[in-house]
Amino acid sequence: MSEDCLFCRIVSGEMTSDIVYETDEVLAFRDISPQAPVHVLVIPKAHIATISEAPTDAGLFDKLYAAAFEVAKKEGIFEEGFRTVFNCHKKGGQVVFHMHMHLLGGRQMRANS
Ligand code: 5GP
Ligand code: ZN
Repeated sequence: MSEDCLFCRIVSGEMTSDIVYETDEVLAFRDISPQAPVHVLVIPKAHIATISEAPTDAGLFDKLYAAAFEVAKKEGIFEEGFRTVFNCHKKGGQVVFHMHMHLLGGRQMRANS
């Protein structure tokens, strides 16, 4: 838990969010400013600022993708297709520094939007 982190406050329940899926280690909630009919953020509950600081040998990414696939099934977009995106650091477009996967779907996705 990082005191000044927005997504840690969502994990702790201090800040409300529309949670769609949860495990011991992962939380998925709707993006406040959706860019598609389905726009869910999938995060580790533990604070990790950005993906380049995440362990790649601890199964974390498997858990995040497993959660995203469950959400995609629940939202009815698993079969038709969807997009997953991690933004890393400022140049990668990251604004909130608690690592998160964007799960987007429900519309035609294009190369840059
Ligand atoms: P980034 O650019 O860091 O990859 O994405 C951050 C995402 O967090 C943005 O899509 C933004 O709309 C979303 N976001 C920012 N503040 C909040 C919030 O308070 N609640 C929720 N649910 N999403 C947020
Ligand atoms: Zn955090």
